[in-house]
Amino acid sequence: MDDRPFPQTRCILCSMPLSLQTDLAADENGKAVHTECYVKRIAGVPSNPSPTSIVN
Ligand SMILES: [Zn+2]
Repeated sequence: MDDRPFPQTRCILCSMPLSLQTDLAADENGKAVHTECYVKRIAGVPSNPSPTSIVN
């Protein structure tokens, strides 16, 4: 019988602990992430650089 507790798993995107019952998802590399964080990451990829980053 193996009754070791699960190690604390943290989301690699926000570093908050994952609830294995409700939050468990995995990114394209198989890393544990929140489903919400993964969705935000996919949806939040900037398609063009902000002009404000070019100010001198
Ligand atoms: Zn997260």
